[in-house]
Amino acid sequence: MNLSISWFDSHCHFDMLDQEAGPLAEQAIQAGVGLMLTIGTKDESNRKILPLIASQPALHGALGIHPHEAAQAREADFQFIYEAAQNQTKVVAIGECGFDFYYRHADSKSQVQVFYRQVEIALELGLPLVIHARDAESQVQGFLKDFQGSGLRGVFHSFTGTVGLAEKILQKGYLLSFNGICTFPKGENVREVLKITPLNQILLETDAPFLAPKPHRGRMNYPAYLPLVGRFVANFLRITETQLKNACWENSLRLFNRIKPI
Ligand SMILES: [Zn+2]
Repeated sequence: MNLSISWFDSHCHFDMLDQEAGPLAEQAIQAGVGLMLTIGTKDESNRKILPLIASQPALHGALGIHPHEAAQAREADFQFIYEAAQNQTKVVAIGECGFDFYYRHADSKSQVQVFYRQVEIALELGLPLVIHARDAESQVQGFLKDFQGSGLRGVFHSFTGTVGLAEKILQKGYLLSFNGICTFPKGENVREVLKITPLNQILLETDAPFLAPKPHRGRMNYPAYLPLVGRFVANFLRITETQLKNACWENSLRLFNRIKPI
């Protein structure tokens, strides 16, 4: 792959979109999005991701069990993640995994067990984590403490927690990934977090099909909309789009270091 610097969509779900991966990836590339990471949420989606990333050069994948799905996770699901991540170089991260005590689709015991099981896999394979954490301040603090000094790396995606928690996450070297929420009038708390995030710890994402940025809010989101998030974030931070694009590109490739674009 020989790619010049472009927007990097660090979090989207191709298996949930309403069109074929080929045309969607092509639209994104045309819009200036050179690389995309499609994120697994459960066994069924992890199994769909492997053929998608094998057929699309611009797509890489993360495999994991989302906290919403934690109560249904079986040992075989972790085996699948481990083996695929070990053998397929286009699997570049473990996730989406973490905690969600806002929706509480799964009990807290399963959420903690399933998340920590995936942390073990990430540590064993030397892969970064893609973390979803919502309304889980004390659990995140516990996690940061438990794995301090372990060499664990990762990104907290679509972070909606407090500035205080964001500071602790950033101090430990994790990255934060920002999406269309930044563009929403009610995204004030996320913009406060964005303000204190060093440029070398920012990633951008669409989280497509969710969280379409303005002016597409309320409709299906696509990776091709990432430049809209980029433009908003660059204006908000008072830097140029090129500066932001370069930083996010570098940050993404440093974190997802299995990707070798040149
Ligand atoms: Zn997601």
